[in-house]
Amino acid sequence: MDLRYSAADEAFRGELRAWLEGAVAAHGPAPPGGDWDERRVYDTGWQRKLYDAGFAGVNWPAEYGGRGATLTEQLIYYEEIARAKAPYIGANFIGMMHGGPTLMAEGTPEQKAFHLPSILSGEHVWCQGFSEPSAGSDLASLTTRAVREGDEYVVEGHKIWSTRAHISDYCELLVRTDPAAAKHKGISWLILPMDQPGVDVRPLPTLMGDSHFCEVFLEGARVPVENRIGEENDGWRVANVTLRFERGSAFAQHITSMRTQLVGIWDVAGRTARGGSLEPALRRRLGAFDAEVETLWRLTQMCVSEAAHTGMPALVGSAVKLRYSELYQEIGELGIHVLGRAGLAREDVGGFPTEEMMHDYLWALQFTISGGTSQIQRNIIAERILGLPRERSA
Ligand SMILES: Cc1cc2nc3c(=O)[nH]c(=O)nc-3n(C[C@H](O)[C@H](O)[C@H](O)COP(=O)(O)OP(=O)(O)OC[C@H]3O[C@@H](n4cnc5c(N)ncnc54)[C@H](O)[C@@H]3O)c2cc1C
Repeated sequence: MDLRYSAADEAFRGELRAWLEGAVAAHGPAPPGGDWDERRVYDTGWQRKLYDAGFAGVNWPAEYGGRGATLTEQLIYYEEIARAKAPYIGANFIGMMHGGPTLMAEGTPEQKAFHLPSILSGEHVWCQGFSEPSAGSDLASLTTRAVREGDEYVVEGHKIWSTRAHISDYCELLVRTDPAAAKHKGISWLILPMDQPGVDVRPLPTLMGDSHFCEVFLEGARVPVENRIGEENDGWRVANVTLRFERGSAFAQHITSMRTQLVGIWDVAGRTARGGSLEPALRRRLGAFDAEVETLWRLTQMCVSEAAHTGMPALVGSAVKLRYSELYQEIGELGIHVLGRAGLAREDVGGFPTEEMMHDYLWALQFTISGGTSQIQRNIIAERILGLPRERSA
């Protein structure tokens, strides 16, 4: 793996940087948290601009409408969008980062032709319906049933924690199609159209003050059989492809944004320092965090590199996910610490970006749970990377 940037890479960086300079300012600030319809318009509008400028799906193959960029160009893309403080991928996250990639790896030509262009252009928003009230870490225990009736599945069940389900057009849905089979064997992966009478989406409030995830009640929801990804009852294997993308490379933007966060904390620390110079202990912590972010970025490069060569991110993504999710929380806490008393406010005070830093701190709390908890990542590292004995099943 050669990660040095060539003259062509630097030319790509220049082109992207110049475009971002005008486009980010023109797109304006994100709407206030909680206004999800506006948020969808904002996020998908940004995706459309990326698409029109040829920067959407920079790592997607050209045959699927992506830029078909080299590995180094993908990495430059992540670096530059963080540097420009470009809008967060937001509503497009699930479609772009694991729904679309799962379709590319496992979908039929018809599924790819229909869904990939609309994900890429921001026309359709996707959510994920994997977790259930009694099936989170032990996802294979899911009980949502799909019964085949002619050329449709009829679905009954209850999904939970579905991020942005209230503004989504399609859902990556895991269902049980053979209740008599062993639990990992009777599952299928379906594309559920959200806009239909059998789908009832109820947003859940969070401590952030808005409702970014939802419960989804399915009562007689219908899914055409042609919307199944993979064979019937082979959904556990396909779900693992989705999870490899979710844990393996989807977080690249989070890691680059930690760097931006550290620069912000450094700035606040400098402005609040007594006598104008940072305490040595704080300086050391900032330095250590910066070194860790750099290390995680190098490991991300490894994951992205493996995904570029094999079509699947490396398993080491679980180790990166484990550490970056904890580091995110440690950096968020440090931000609140340097704000001092200003950190008690929820809006900007004294010229400090309190709202943003408080948001980063609270937002980080979810990372050690979503996409598979830290304990589950440790199990994966132990069993699948280190080859240690499997944990005893309950
Ligand atoms: C912000 C956020 C967004 C999310 N978005 C989505 C989404 O869009 N779609 C979706 O389907 N899901 C989503 N989830 C759900 C997420 O995938 C689950 O919360 C996660 O898998 C954990 O499941 P659980 O909440 O049921 O906890 P549980 O599985 O009940 O776990 C409870 C505790 O027990 C520990 N534990 C469980 N099993 C083991 C074990 N074998 N060994 C050691 N410890 C164990 C866990 O680590 C955890 O600490 C989201 C979650 C969050 C927080």
